Amino acid sequence: MLKTRSQNVISATWSPNGEALGTVDLTKADNNPFGADVFSPAVQQELLPSDVYERLQATLEHGEALDFTLADAVAEAMKEWALARGATHFTHVFQPLTGLTAEKHDSFFEPNREGMWLAKFSGKELIQGEPDASSFPTGGIRDTFEARGYTAWDPTSPAFILENPNGALLCIPTAFVSWTGEALDAKTPLLGSMDALSKSAIRALKLLGAEDAKRVFTTVGPEQEYFLIDENYFFDRPDLLITGRTMFGAKPAKGHELDDHYFGAIPERVLACIMDFENELAKLGVPIKTRHNEVAPAQHEIAPVFENSNVGSDHQQLTMQVMQRVARKYGLVCLLHEKPFAGVNGSGKHNNWSMGTDTGSNLLDPGDTPAENLNFLFFCAAVIQAVNKHQGLLRASVAGIGQDHRLGANEAPPAIMSIFLGEELTKVFEGIASGEGDPHRPASFMELGAEVLPPLPMHGGDRNRTSPFAFTGNKFEFRAVGSSQSLAFPNTVLNTIVAEAIDDLSDKLEAKGTDDVASAVTEVVKDAYTASKQICFDGDNYDEAWHKEAEERGLKNLKTTPDCLPEVLAEPSVSMMTKYGVLNERELESRYEVWLEQYIIRANIEAETADSIARTMILPAALRYLALGDESGISAVTEETTPLVDELVAAIKELDEANQYPEGIEGMDLAIHARDKQLAAMERVREAADKLEKIVPDDLWPLPKYAEMLFIR
Ligand code: ADP
Ligand code: MG
Repeated sequence: MLKTRSQNVISATWSPNGEALGTVDLTKADNNPFGADVFSPAVQQELLPSDVYERLQATLEHGEALDFTLADAVAEAMKEWALARGATHFTHVFQPLTGLTAEKHDSFFEPNREGMWLAKFSGKELIQGEPDASSFPTGGIRDTFEARGYTAWDPTSPAFILENPNGALLCIPTAFVSWTGEALDAKTPLLGSMDALSKSAIRALKLLGAEDAKRVFTTVGPEQEYFLIDENYFFDRPDLLITGRTMFGAKPAKGHELDDHYFGAIPERVLACIMDFENELAKLGVPIKTRHNEVAPAQHEIAPVFENSNVGSDHQQLTMQVMQRVARKYGLVCLLHEKPFAGVNGSGKHNNWSMGTDTGSNLLDPGDTPAENLNFLFFCAAVIQAVNKHQGLLRASVAGIGQDHRLGANEAPPAIMSIFLGEELTKVFEGIASGEGDPHRPASFMELGAEVLPPLPMHGGDRNRTSPFAFTGNKFEFRAVGSSQSLAFPNTVLNTIVAEAIDDLSDKLEAKGTDDVASAVTEVVKDAYTASKQICFDGDNYDEAWHKEAEERGLKNLKTTPDCLPEVLAEPSVSMMTKYGVLNERELESRYEVWLEQYIIRANIEAETADSIARTMILPAALRYLALGDESGISAVTEETTPLVDELVAAIKELDEANQYPEGIEGMDLAIHARDKQLAAMERVREAADKLEKIVPDDLWPLPKYAEMLFIR
């Protein structure tokens, strides 16, 4: 093995080996890359006959089904546009239940009778595709004779071009459903949940006396955390390569104690890489807005301006894909795993969420008038009720093996769901709950004598970062989402639980009659808040005392994936998802199956990888050192090393045994075996190995160390 020192020198050296972007004059419109590779409404307007364009836009605006006669015209324009950009193939991209992005490429070109290639792309090919569904996990739905599925064009998420050094690809966002109509993907239920929420919110707005909105969109702005490390180390670590995280590695002398990285200057190579992927994302129409260093060394964050949940979710998938692709041009690897390094902060994806009307108002913005304030309190109370009622499902929506290392690890919110309202808003709700003041003038609850709510401070960096679900001025921030996760399911859950709560509050409002809207709303808000306020907690979520208190309050604390997945099939989840037409029982069962299976498979891959590294890399290194000690005749060395090697050997044996599945075990029992036996044994192998790392000579140690991976960039 190459001595690590010389490898470090290689890794630290870099030249602008990406495609030096260079500087351009951004006052010239042509130099702005934004949307250059997107079949955007502007492009459509230019390329489509005006009647076709108008009919298409009208269809999209009203969320109606697509008129098939339009499809051929749109397909023709899309093909010409894509060919002009060098695209040879097209693909229907979709999100199978694994949370990744799937694509199958088809050429535009077909041979004709004259023995030439002819470019063809029909409306039918645009609207519908038929990938071979049989290899995607579908949790039971696959096992039936109707296993086949088809992809259906989602015209509300724009098509785009993905470039490759050797060609380009037209990507058409699609939903993926079985021939019997079941959703086999993550997009279909997300779209369903957006419809459900829109209906509920429009109904509520009517009751509240706001008649003009026709559609309400849920919005999402994700803050993505990630690590960038030199690829030399990545490829030298089978654990990173295979599982996305290091399964060995002693804590470095320097971690983030000095806090010198957070918001610090971004190293040149890293910044060059970030600028490059931001540029690529701009071409794809992803509105990236902020970049900064995160708490851990080598950790960064990127965030776009929020968009509607469907487009925002598609753009998030693209963001992860582009970041990983571009990083390689700079000799870096982008790690999206929730916990790539033990003992170092993990990565999350803050999911900023709100609801906005087609007339431009944000329903979670307190506003400036008493009427806006009332609406705000109504929708805010619905969110509180929803999160309290479905805390288990919300927790399950962010489940995953990577998350089990992060949630509750004193860096990320705990597995206990709770809402941070902030001092000002808590005062407002408490005022309403205690019935003080004049119900016609909610402002007087705050004893401020003003007509309207005081301006609620917007979220700043110093606000409660420990809360899993925080109100941040005009939106809620769901902070428990994992860095590698798709946004689709967490937002599907959020949208649907809030739709249900809005309907419940609307029913109550209707029952009270709306002659005096202000006092009826105040009463409804009061009851909802009082019944659900156990979910509200403004204190330190890392504090042990809170975990105790949460238990006394009866809040759920579902620590691991096997603990929380059953929530997907719990009665309140199933009846709500079914009622709103988002997912039926069979579709929920299939998700439960797939996610459980993913957990088991990934745990097993980790356990096998750890076993192999421990046996074939770490143990031999330790034995070499032991021999060196014997040879030197210094007994202190042998005495120190021998028990650690014994410990490692014993732990490997335990892991070996755990890796043999007990006879006839499957499903949840197997997941529990994976968690309690395999992952637990892996931890013990690691403990022994990490102790050895600290004493085995550096030139014998087979794996790059934490300090090297985290600090050499
Ligand atoms: P932070 O202090 O957490 O960085 P920011 O104000 O910078 O908060 O916002 C973070 C994210 O929240 C951004 O992606 C932003 O676009 C998004 N955001 C802002 N308003 C909304 C909204 N109404 N709905 C959804 N996301 C929003
Ligand atoms: Mg944030």
